[in-house]
Amino acid sequence: MFSLPGLPYPYNALEPYIDEKTMQIHHDKHHGAYVKNLNDALAGNDALLAIPIENILKNLNQVPEAVRTKVRNNGGGHANHSLFWQIMAPKTGGAPSGEIAKVIDRDFGNFAAFVEKFSSAGMGRFGSGWVWLINDAGKLSIVDTPNQDTPLMENKVPILGLDVWEHAYYLKYQNLRADYIKAWWNVVNWQEVVKRFASV
Ligand code: MN
Repeated sequence: MFSLPGLPYPYNALEPYIDEKTMQIHHDKHHGAYVKNLNDALAGNDALLAIPIENILKNLNQVPEAVRTKVRNNGGGHANHSLFWQIMAPKTGGAPSGEIAKVIDRDFGNFAAFVEKFSSAGMGRFGSGWVWLINDAGKLSIVDTPNQDTPLMENKVPILGLDVWEHAYYLKYQNLRADYIKAWWNVVNWQEVVKRFASV
């Protein structure tokens, strides 16, 4: 069985950039529903219920075809949001330092250029989806995915992700996705991104 991980900070911790009500609904209702639907889809399949969701997503062709789309959508939702809560934190943001800062400079030119490219990918993702920073054997790149798809499905490792579904920002920002993305950089938890970068 999969379970909804708790938020590592209070619902209002990311104010004023991400509001309390959005965090509450996003975590409890949206992520909660992905977890419930994932468990429902895999009910009775004890083997799959026992392995990490990331491993299931890397091997979706091993999921029974009858429930594969449900597992893709809801398992993707579970994995993506589990990462998303971790890579944000209060009193963070700014630019990273250390090794990852050097790698960002090497692969994108400089931090501002990286932010610009990542933000543009978020604006360019039509409809619902995600933007990711990928660590591909030490080389960083930016990709975006539709719906709840994840780079894990392509065997790529996401170390930072931005949810651009309207449910992530509509209460506070309405249609202004650009304002949400701009604000989001203030809550990026680079310490966690560095940890994920180092563990690949
Ligand atoms: Mn979401």
